[in-house]
Amino acid sequence: MAEAELHSIATWTEIGLAALTFVSLFFVTAPYGRHGRKGWGPEISQRLGWVLMELPACVLWLGIYFAGTHALELAPLALMALWQLHYVNRTFVFPFRIKAEGKTTPVSIVATAIVFNTLNAYVNARWVSELGSYPISWLYDARFVIGAVLFVAGFAINQHADQVLMNLRKPGETGYKIPHGGLYRFISCPNYFGEILEWTGWAIATWSLAGLAFALYTIANLAPRALKHHEWYRQKFADYPTSRRALIPFVV
Ligand code: NDP
Repeated sequence: MAEAELHSIATWTEIGLAALTFVSLFFVTAPYGRHGRKGWGPEISQRLGWVLMELPACVLWLGIYFAGTHALELAPLALMALWQLHYVNRTFVFPFRIKAEGKTTPVSIVATAIVFNTLNAYVNARWVSELGSYPISWLYDARFVIGAVLFVAGFAINQHADQVLMNLRKPGETGYKIPHGGLYRFISCPNYFGEILEWTGWAIATWSLAGLAFALYTIANLAPRALKHHEWYRQKFADYPTSRRALIPFVV
């Protein structure tokens, strides 16, 4: 089988997984964080879980990227820098900044994420440095520029929103409070909103089915969870701001 065919199957598999995830998450909430519950098998520390889950998206991604024949060209390098801006933080910084003392995550969730991130690393890294075509002129193509701006804006929103959540707990605290400031004025989950903007930007900057597959998967994963978070906040806090939406300001 030619590699282009294998890559196409992998990419369509990812799109199929996005559809399956989207539908499933309306029936079963992923059991981690505030929605964590027993019955999902053995658990490990939440911090370790994050590092293990995200390693393929960061380290394996780099390995696949540098095996590509276009890896040292400027446009693929710029795309690689965007991807790694997100994943170096998510894998090696974020897990050590969250207030997660004593918190655990099911191994089944970690294993599922590792499988997905391995597939996604192949789909996106291989596309960027081998199967796609990004000459140097791509760096001033409107699709790259708009996509990169959207990606960086999404990254900034995601970082700020996660930072607000981290600041809510004093050292040793494990409970929940109402977040305020920034996009929390309008929505319950600006970290998810920022993440969705990032990968939508990635899909535009790479102008590829590979990038679109991951953007769709991110929406499929985070949109139902944002609705669950929003509902949870409204039930838990009687004084939760009524004008706040779940995921998209003034819309949803
Ligand atoms: P959450 O918003 O559920 O939680 C983020 C962190 O903040 C956790 O440590 C959580 O603690 C804590 N926290 C959340 N709300 C409160 C609150 N009201 N008061 C005090 N502490 C709070 O995000 P996730 O854990 O689901 O995701 C973390 C990051 O990973 C996000 O930036 C998200 O965008 C990204 N992500 C991306 C995915 C993708 O498909 N691309 C999939 C999943 C996540 P606790 O864990 O105890 O609830």
